Formats: sequence, C-alpha cells, structure tokens
Amino acid sequence: MSKNLISRLNESPVICAEGYLFAMERRGYLQAGAFVPEVVLEHPEVVTQLHREFIRSGSDVVQAFTYYGHREKLKIIGKEDKLEVLQKNALKIAKDTANEFPDLDLMIAGNVSNTCVYDPNDNSTIAECRKMFEEQVAWAKEAGVDFIMAETLSWLEEAKIALKVIKEADMIAVTNITIHQEAKTRDGYTPEDACKILEDLGSEVVGLNCSRGPKMTMKLLPKIREKVSCHVSALPVPYRTTEEEPGFLNMTDHNCDCIPGGNAFPVALDNLYCNRFEMGEFAKECAGKNINFIGICCGAEPHHVREMAVALGKKPLSYQYYPDMSKHQAHGTDPLLKKVNTDFALKF
Ligand SMILES: [Zn+2]
Repeated sequence: MSKNLISRLNESPVICAEGYLFAMERRGYLQAGAFVPEVVLEHPEVVTQLHREFIRSGSDVVQAFTYYGHREKLKIIGKEDKLEVLQKNALKIAKDTANEFPDLDLMIAGNVSNTCVYDPNDNSTIAECRKMFEEQVAWAKEAGVDFIMAETLSWLEEAKIALKVIKEADMIAVTNITIHQEAKTRDGYTPEDACKILEDLGSEVVGLNCSRGPKMTMKLLPKIREKVSCHVSALPVPYRTTEEEPGFLNMTDHNCDCIPGGNAFPVALDNLYCNRFEMGEFAKECAGKNINFIGICCGAEPHHVREMAVALGKKPLSYQYYPDMSKHQAHGTDPLLKKVNTDFALKF
C-alpha cells in the first residue's frame, strides 16, 4: 500500500478520525469557548492516547492536532508566543504515535482551519490569512506529513487562500468546507459549486466537514459527488442535527430545560448524540456513493470510528473487543449462561 493518499483512495475508502478539540474538552484538558489545543503542550500524553485509540479503531489517518492552534486563537488566550512550539509538538506527537503501529501503514495529516480573521469586506485580511496558512503549512511540510487538510472553512474565498498555500508548498490537499444552516457557503456558493471551484484550483480531495450531522451532511453530498471528478470527503459531527436545526452551532435539546442560555452547543449536546450504528450507516452510504474519504468531526469517539471501519468491511485492532452479546448474562445465548437470568431477560 502506498502512503500516497490518492492511490489509497483509488483502492478503497480511507477513514479519518478527527474532533480532537471536543474530545479533549470533555476529558478536561482544554477550555470550551476559546477551544485552543493547549493540551499538546501541557499534556501531550493525553493526545498520544487519543491518537492511539482512533488508530486502534480503524482511522487510517493520524491527524496532527494543530486545529485552532493558530495565531488568532492563541492570541485570544494570550499565548501567541507558543504558536510554533504548539504546532511542532502536535506534529511530532502524531508522527511518534503513528510510528508505534508500523504494520498499519498509517498516513499523517497536517491540518489548517478557518483563521477567524477572514472578512470579505476587508482586503487586508486576505494577506493575514495567507500568512497564517503559510507558517502552518511550512511546519507541517517540514514534519513530513503525507497530506494537508484544510477544514471548517465556511467562506469559499478563505478556502481558496488555504488551498493555494498548500499547493504552493507542493502538498496533497483535502479541502473541506463547512456548511452551516443555509445550504451555502457564507459567500453564497452552493456546496457543489464551491467544491468544483476548489477541485479546479487543484485540491485532490474536496468535501464537507463539521457543523452538520450525518443526515444533514448526506443531503448535500450527492450533488457534490455529481459535480466533481476528484475524490470526495465527508466528515460530519456525530449529532442528530435536523432540517430545523441543520448545524450544531445552534441546537436545542427539547428534553432539557437547564442548559445555560438554551443552546446545546457546544457542551450540552449529549442527548443529541448519534450512536455508533448511525455513524456506521453513514460510512456505508458514503462508500456506496463513491465518497471515499470518510470521517467524523467534533464529537467523535473511538467507538464511532470502529463502527464506521466495520461498516466498511475492515477489522481494526479494537475489533478484538467488538460487542458480542451472546455472552451477556441476561440477553446472551451461550450455553454456560444461567437460565434463571436469561429467562428474566426482558424483565430486567
Ligand atoms: Zn468539527
């Protein structure tokens, strides 16, 4: 198998687990709100462990946790001076963890995201974005990543800047736009038009990540698949976003009235979570539609990733512990189980 993403995608679907910010916030290693990956400096061992868990679950890609570790985000927590060391640490952690699994032929991805500075009414922000992308892409390239993902870009124009920088560095690009409530980029392009433009500008893979759950993401994918001829990516959030609330940045949990401010995003989404099987179905549907770069964004946990891998016919390392209810004391069928409990199964 080749480390080249495109030849891998030509052969079969590639799984990419991401969503590190949410996972680390839930574990108590970074703060919701600013959402800066300080954990790569303060508790690198925790990042290593999550990489391991995603790898064991079947992620083919180890994505360096540089997401939101950019200049603007660090500025907001007063740690802009930590930029370079944070980025380099994240890249090193990803590489070192991948090296623990020499038999798996993992790919390492660099990652850039929305800069939070792009403003279509202020031309000076174009240069500012460009500079931010340039420094991050240079560090990723220096670290020897296999490709670079540009993500959660909801302005097509900002996505184009990121892509241009990645292509100038002669790297393979996965460019993911994020579609919020209205099924258009913030600068008014349909997802399929935006993806086509990015393909024409040289992105090897184009698609969607974040914001929408599997159903609301799937609604947009067929038109993208139809419009572009390159590989398509799909990395939804594992939440049940709806027609009424298609994006998870504004979501209501109708069964709970104690969420401060009433918005379940970002830290009270628990009740709206997709289970592993919903994510497995999503993966299968993607593969059936020739959408081959399949993953999961904010909210991802290893059990989701494993079910997606299994749905794609793979047997990841943690398949060793795939559920087997035949051994359950109440619901099982194993002859060693006690009848007094299996007879009571439906009354438990
Ligand atoms: Zn996300």
